[in-house]
Amino acid sequence: MPYRRRYTGLIERYRDRLPISDDTRVISLGEGNTPLIKLNNIPKDMDKDVEIYVKYEGLNPTGSFKDRGMCMAVTKAVESGSKAIICASTGNTSAAAAAYAARAGIKAFVLIPEGKIAMGKLAQAVMHGAVVIQIRGNFDDGMQLVKDVAEHAPVTIVNSINPYRLQGQKTAAFEIVEELERAPDFHCLPVGNAGNITAHWIGYTEMACSGEHITDACKLCNGHCPYSGSGMISKRPKMVGYQADGSAPFMRGGPVKDPDTVATAIRIGNPQSWEPAQAVMKESEGWFDECSDEEILAAQQLLATREGVFCEPASATSLAGAMRDINNGKIPEGSTVVCTLTGHGLKDPDIAIKQSKVELVPIDAKLEEVRDAILGNM
Ligand SMILES: *Cc1c(COP(=O)(O)O)cnc(C)c1O
Repeated sequence: MPYRRRYTGLIERYRDRLPISDDTRVISLGEGNTPLIKLNNIPKDMDKDVEIYVKYEGLNPTGSFKDRGMCMAVTKAVESGSKAIICASTGNTSAAAAAYAARAGIKAFVLIPEGKIAMGKLAQAVMHGAVVIQIRGNFDDGMQLVKDVAEHAPVTIVNSINPYRLQGQKTAAFEIVEELERAPDFHCLPVGNAGNITAHWIGYTEMACSGEHITDACKLCNGHCPYSGSGMISKRPKMVGYQADGSAPFMRGGPVKDPDTVATAIRIGNPQSWEPAQAVMKESEGWFDECSDEEILAAQQLLATREGVFCEPASATSLAGAMRDINNGKIPEGSTVVCTLTGHGLKDPDIAIKQSKVELVPIDAKLEEVRDAILGNM
């Protein structure tokens, strides 16, 4: 059997399509190259003729898609001589920032909202040695503070307002097209700051580029469009963004003051990529919609029990919304749908255990009790 080259992360993989020069020191943990899993059981249960794929971004090194953007942001911060990075976070950005800063040998400061961050994410930030600043406020308050303090301290912001984040994140669309050999008809994502939905659109648009900037979003490629002139795909997907109904500024038409949802990763009332995301919807002819916490948790559980895929609550918003829109025909039969599962289920074990209907079966350590427990539960 021939040896296979070691995978060394998305910057090396897509070097020609990213703003990286030959002597840039690449900070990588092997991010990207995540599985695109075709759902077998859920479409059958729905009795719908659709192909649904989930892009399992929870399998990135720190357990979320944030690694795609963070490897680029930290690589560029180090290249520019920065010794410290800072971010506001609902959890996953801080986990990724902490890990990549550790890898790079620089300092990470993370601002997190008090009490509203999943335990796994906090554990990561702490373990990787970040300075964890817990604010009495929500993500939006933290984001404003980060922007303000960066004007007064020598720190590089690594939230998705850092343009290198979206450059890294666009590579998820490259991977999907390479595996499907086309773009899906619909690409569904959970939306918080709306950076990721914008990044995917940049990725698809670069792959569709036939030499000229064809759209406004296309110009976001900053001249780094590798496919320029190649037109690898002829059609881009409709982008569909789902929010939690207690945290749905795109549905309300403006910022939401006190966002709340069980899906803490998208508990954001004032999205930083508001305008780009609106452009994405217009250009792709996609739409925003909202899901209740109940729908989100039901989709999370369905994925886990029917497909063996464990994602965190925010991630399941993409499937929850897609299933509704498949059932109501907005996504017609015959479609190919990709749902991004943004983060791993282990990030938030508390919610998982709390919502699980499975009862533990306590017994004495005796053969007949085990046998009865098995036969009684067949
Ligand atoms: C960050 C995050 C999101 C939201 O992504 P945006 O780019 O902010 O829209 C969704 N799900 C998870 C798990 C996240 O960590």
